[in-house]
Amino acid sequence: MEDKLDIRKYTKDELKVVMQNLGEPAFRAGQIYQWLWQKGVTSFDDMSNLSKSLREKLQNAYVIRGIVTDKVQVSEDGTIKTRFKLHDGAFIESVLIPVTEDDRYTVCISCQVGCSLTCSFCATGKMKRVRNLDAGEIFDQVVEVNKQCEAFYGRGITNIVYMGMGEPLLTYATVVESIDKITSPEGLGMSPKRITVSTAGIAKMIRKMADDGLKVNLALSLHAADDVKRDEIMPINEQNNLEALMEAIHYFHKTTGNRISYEYIAFDHFNEGEEDARNLVKLCSRFPVKVNVIEYNTVEGVSLTKASQERVDAFARYVRSKGVMISVRRSRGKDIDAACGQLANKD
Ligand code: SF4
Repeated sequence: MEDKLDIRKYTKDELKVVMQNLGEPAFRAGQIYQWLWQKGVTSFDDMSNLSKSLREKLQNAYVIRGIVTDKVQVSEDGTIKTRFKLHDGAFIESVLIPVTEDDRYTVCISCQVGCSLTCSFCATGKMKRVRNLDAGEIFDQVVEVNKQCEAFYGRGITNIVYMGMGEPLLTYATVVESIDKITSPEGLGMSPKRITVSTAGIAKMIRKMADDGLKVNLALSLHAADDVKRDEIMPINEQNNLEALMEAIHYFHKTTGNRISYEYIAFDHFNEGEEDARNLVKLCSRFPVKVNVIEYNTVEGVSLTKASQERVDAFARYVRSKGVMISVRRSRGKDIDAACGQLANKD
């Protein structure tokens, strides 16, 4: 079974060749493609418009390497964290964040098992990177959490953020492929405007996103508005300093016109003082950007702690007074370790 090929690796044209080799008409490729990427099935048995004999042929030669729900935890605030088991026994997590009053149901998905970047405040960064997910494994999270959203909230997801485990721009090709499967009319058909790719900041790849004409929104995990502090908590900043990032994001904005946001976790007496606020305002001057200030959730072994509400409010007030769009977000799902920076496959 293990040496069977994953049928989801084939393009539609390649599937036509597969059909030819199996002695089947070419139009079957379209049907199979539809089952895989529009309906998201992970079993050949579910492909009910194929003949039994074709389903058997497929079963004998191929697998669909889907993900399996391993554990579901529901927070008191309605956030749902799901741990998925992958075909090789690795685990990843996805989080459904419902904002019922705004009718917004966002799924935060993972793109790598662990992460190679070692942001000092992040639980995932302490796991080390095991491997990249393939496009199907990223896609499956959307399909599965969408079903979960329908079951819990009576409607499907509205937004997708690539903000779970891993750095999307370090597994660019699979992330782009998954976006294609999620957005194309032959896939789930979701609008790319509802998708946000969040990066710790890799300037070269942000430019590539622009050059490739990606229609998704971009979020930068900023977390500090000067290089000294950012170097301290995000080692990736040493090769991608703020000037390089601002230039790349400016280019992304000019080229695509897509929405840009900064994620900014407020750490106590680290990045929420007056000077930090002034530095942040400067970083918001070149292109329209929205800042999301996020409450920190303690991670074991990390000395950074959560900033007080008063300091966060004063910080946000100053930034807002300079005409920058800024919102302060309550952390979600912290009782189940589902909040930002907490994903680490814990029990
Ligand atoms: S914050 Fe993101 S990029 Fe940094 S270690 Fe965590 S998962 Fe990786």
